[in-house]
Amino acid sequence: MPIKKLLIANRGEIALRIHRACHEMGIATVAVHSTADSDAMHVRLADESVCIGPPAAKDSYLNMANIISAAEITHADAVHPGYGFLSENAQFAEIVESHGLCWVGPKPEHIRIMGDKVEAKRTAAKLGLPLVPGSPGPIENVAEARAIAAEVGYPVIIKAASGGGGRGMKVVEDEDHLESAMMQAASEAKAAFGDDTVYLEKYLGDPRHIEFQIFGDGEGNAIHIGERDCSIQRRHQKVIEEAPSPVISPEQRARMGGIVAKAMADMHYRGAGTIEFLYENDEFYFIEMNTRLQVEHPVTELISDIDLVREQIRVAQGDGLSCTQDQVVLHGHAIECRINAEDPVTFAPSPGLVKNYVAPGGMHVRVDSGLYAGYRVPPYYDSMIGKLIVYGTTRDECIMRLKRALEEFVVEGMKTTVPLQQKIIRTEAFKSGNYTIKWLEQWLDEQQA
Ligand code: ADP
Repeated sequence: MPIKKLLIANRGEIALRIHRACHEMGIATVAVHSTADSDAMHVRLADESVCIGPPAAKDSYLNMANIISAAEITHADAVHPGYGFLSENAQFAEIVESHGLCWVGPKPEHIRIMGDKVEAKRTAAKLGLPLVPGSPGPIENVAEARAIAAEVGYPVIIKAASGGGGRGMKVVEDEDHLESAMMQAASEAKAAFGDDTVYLEKYLGDPRHIEFQIFGDGEGNAIHIGERDCSIQRRHQKVIEEAPSPVISPEQRARMGGIVAKAMADMHYRGAGTIEFLYENDEFYFIEMNTRLQVEHPVTELISDIDLVREQIRVAQGDGLSCTQDQVVLHGHAIECRINAEDPVTFAPSPGLVKNYVAPGGMHVRVDSGLYAGYRVPPYYDSMIGKLIVYGTTRDECIMRLKRALEEFVVEGMKTTVPLQQKIIRTEAFKSGNYTIKWLEQWLDEQQA
């Protein structure tokens, strides 16, 4: 059934991104917003909007009852969750479907399996994906942790089964620190995710983070749309992403992409997904799967010319995938810089009134942001205020264009990470593509010294 009116259960740039795809498909949009977001761009652009609660996310953007009510009141027939908030909440997906609404996302059972990282690893192993060596399931006690750590070798990393956003992880250098790290990880996981289940993995020394974009139709067909390299990270959070990865050959892409696409086809996966790997010494190690659209999806869009949100909507309304694997043609290079309202040196949040805003433009420059002059960035949510995504026929051309675009970026009234991004892309490590997930933090330490 074609979707006529879609409720966007999110805010900020991703709500705008979804709205844009909808309007290009002739679909009306309903924005939801907290009282802190009444003036937000996603509310201004949507055809209708409903206030769903006070500023705290748990009372608004995570408030399932209010979001469902908003869909019913406005007669929306579909819900797109964006990323974050309720996007990987299987129960919400079920509630949406049980209200006769179209859920623009994967099947609830797949969200549930992949949301539990231990279950996800088990499933990945069954589907033939290579894993990071570690515990086959949750670790119940210190003795078990000791035995597995001894087997895989130190250092190891203790991770929360329900973890996300780089939280709930503890690196352990040797056996003396194992017990305390395990206790700490479990209690942090309990506090952050309400679940103290932890598991253990070998801590890879110097890997890259490489993830594959996949799409399934839910009926046994799936494609991959190449990889993204997200190794420029701080505190396990991505700062710059690019596609393709500077270190993956066409043969490796075809081989690994083929493996992940087959795994997703076998699973009868529906919609957009990302299979994340660590990559070291020419080997891929599965770490997790995200059952949603990713922040960094635009770099894939720019090198594939596939609108991933449109594709999500197509699949959700039963139109199937718009192309076969053979029709996916990747070309050129794209890089995304996340722009945060933060001090570029201390990373202290810097919300406030946008006094002036000028986004860069020109050929192959895309800015996904809800900012405008006079807008007040609320202090309650994620500090990301926009993304700059640039395309070039080659990586070098892309970097030159990115430099030029960052020079044009004006956000007055608050501190942003634009100056940091300018510095990063000028480093030898970035220019050569020769960096790993450790690189940014080491480089930041050197800058402070
Ligand atoms: P989250 O769901 O919180 O994002 P991930 O499992 O995706 O957690 O890991 C996030 C980041 O943490 C990775 O990109 C990587 O930088 C680091 N990391 C995770 N597991 C390992 C590991 N086994 N060895 C080294 N680094 C790791």
